[in-house]
Amino acid sequence: MPTHSRPLSPRIQSHSLATSTQSVHGNEPRKKAHDAVTTPIVCSSTYVFDDTATLTRYFEGDLEREEYGRYGNPTVRAAEQKIAALDAAEDAALFASGMAAVTTAILALVKAGDHIVMTSDCYRRTRQFVNAFLGRFFIEATLVPPGQPELVARAIKHGKTRLIIAESPTNPYLRIADIPTLAAIKRGAERCNLLIDATFATPVNQRPLALGADLVLHSCTKYHAGHNDVLAGAICGNAGLVSLVRDLRGVLGGVLDPHAAFLVSRGIKTLNLRVERQNTSSQRIAEFLEAHPNVRQVFYPGLASHPDHALAQAQMNGFGGVVSFRVHGGAQEAARVVDACKLATIAPSLGGVETLIEQPALMSYFELTTEEREAIGIYDDLIRLAVGIEDVEDILADLAQAFEVAYADVSHAA
Ligand SMILES: *Cc1c(COP(=O)(O)O)cnc(C)c1O
Repeated sequence: MPTHSRPLSPRIQSHSLATSTQSVHGNEPRKKAHDAVTTPIVCSSTYVFDDTATLTRYFEGDLEREEYGRYGNPTVRAAEQKIAALDAAEDAALFASGMAAVTTAILALVKAGDHIVMTSDCYRRTRQFVNAFLGRFFIEATLVPPGQPELVARAIKHGKTRLIIAESPTNPYLRIADIPTLAAIKRGAERCNLLIDATFATPVNQRPLALGADLVLHSCTKYHAGHNDVLAGAICGNAGLVSLVRDLRGVLGGVLDPHAAFLVSRGIKTLNLRVERQNTSSQRIAEFLEAHPNVRQVFYPGLASHPDHALAQAQMNGFGGVVSFRVHGGAQEAARVVDACKLATIAPSLGGVETLIEQPALMSYFELTTEEREAIGIYDDLIRLAVGIEDVEDILADLAQAFEVAYADVSHAA
């Protein structure tokens, strides 16, 4: 006997489409719509409830399903589950950008009177948020230089420090944070969490949760998505912490669009292939640069000359896709090398399939003087290469011809 005595209304018809990721065959949980191999993009800002009893069951917590787009979306959820699995995390929450992820996570974990310890080479906008912005809300921060976990231990204010934030590897010198040591320091402080920005590493090369971190941040704009075509950010960790962060996402509203979530999911399918290629290409490129007469110094954790090489070997499976180097001469010579590259194009960002090149002194620190830049360790002769997935021989040939062009006038040579 039909349960509806009246014909299907337009509302009910649209309902059966809108809930196409949920089973229409009884009580089974969500299934992929139309048995599609790829994750469908569910473009719905809101979700239909069959009746008041269903709505009540949902609010009582008996029913896991979507309600309204700011609280969740099936396409976003599918990408979150993949991201959590990659970091062996209980859960993950996706955001509209890496910055939306990290600012929401920090705000979810601290309140007025709390204290944060952060390494001074963290992502510039994260530093700006913690060091400048949070002060307005009486949340104090202490910045400590990288490579000295004993200074992190000394900066802890017992009963007040709620968060230790570090990045590994960092930009542009690829410094490695000793995550197990930071985790031990964190355990010695009460109710303190360790947040690691692992954007440069990717879960292919480093699993911070397994090393003792509580939360991992990824700017999925970089390697997870991997094609320089979308902005996204993720927080991974245990279910309780991620749920706190996700709840605040519903308030602050930095949610990821389902189309963007689809691109992140698609990127993840080749993450391992891309990162393995970027690891091997970057190692070759770093060795090529280290042997090049126009190069003054190379920074890559896979080189024995890097200050954190041993640490990177201990806690990473690969050394990543970013290589920084200083050239002989100065700002002009660096600019000539960058400008002479044909395959590598000038752009910020990293982690995509295309090789990108930039001078951090210009791209990130243009407003400072040379002296101010040198005081924070950013030299005018520094170049950062974000290695793509092109044939490494092509990237090497491009760099070789760029040096030839840039130093054609012998007076510029070493
Ligand atoms: C790019 C980046 C961020 C910020 O991510 P967006 O997606 O650009 O907001 C944070 N941390 C690191 C290390 C990054 O490289």
